[in-house]
Amino acid sequence: RTVYLNGSFVPFEEARIPIMDRGFLFADGIYEVSAILDGRLVDNEAHLARLDRSLGEIGIRNPYPTDAWIRLETELVARNDLREGLVYMQVTRGVAERDFAFPAADTPPSVVMFTQKKSIIGNPLAETGAKVVTVEDLRWKRRDIKSVALLAQVLAKQAAAQAGVAEAWMVEDGAVTEGSSSTAFIVTTDRRIVTRPLSTALLPGITRAAVLRLASEENLTVEERLFSVEEAYAAAEAFYTSASAFVMPVIALDDRAIGAGQPGPLTRRLRDLYIGMARGA
Ligand code: PLP
Repeated sequence: RTVYLNGSFVPFEEARIPIMDRGFLFADGIYEVSAILDGRLVDNEAHLARLDRSLGEIGIRNPYPTDAWIRLETELVARNDLREGLVYMQVTRGVAERDFAFPAADTPPSVVMFTQKKSIIGNPLAETGAKVVTVEDLRWKRRDIKSVALLAQVLAKQAAAQAGVAEAWMVEDGAVTEGSSSTAFIVTTDRRIVTRPLSTALLPGITRAAVLRLASEENLTVEERLFSVEEAYAAAEAFYTSASAFVMPVIALDDRAIGAGQPGPLTRRLRDLYIGMARGA
């Protein structure tokens, strides 16, 4: 397995980060995840645009222009002979003696990239549908930044694991904010696709944007507004989206069946449309 570390492709076992890396000490860094399908990157330029924006929002210099990122990702995918899975990218504010304030401006950011093999299309969960539990959203106020400070999401996902389910939906003031690593959607009994609008209070999901685009091309009704946990319990369908899950049907929330308790027809259609887009891209 080959990974990318600060300018070189190196064997996984040899890749090391200094203990003074600010990613390690302060979670002072940004990450991105792009899917690979049929050996090709899915919607990758949108992920790289979000990476650039996240870095800019916290004042870390983007080490590479977009075309260089794409060349590095493509080479990493080829070196690992990856057909289906994920490319993980992380940029931190670099290595410096421990101090909360930024280090000297000439401190080079640390860059890490690795691939993970994963079956996305054939994921059995997409056939059966995923169960989800709700947890309190414990995160900070700039959730639009894809920060590596993920403690609240770690605890949320662990609560899901302990409940024996695939994902946790985080809740604030009675409304669903997001999944721990995904965007949350419901479909109402009158066939409206509902997901909350973009703001600094959630991550602008790249898969979310693609699904909304595909839904409107199909003349499906989309409503960008908050929805409550109660409304989700009573929904006809529910699903979540992410680069690693694509469109994942939700069949139960807190042990209450959603709709018929199986993946809904609109959800299946959106998943198929998304896969078609990913394959054709
Ligand atoms: N929301 C959160 C909190 C996430 O962590 C993620 C992905 O990791 C998403 C949404 C989905 O974003 P995307 O579709 O860009 O993968």
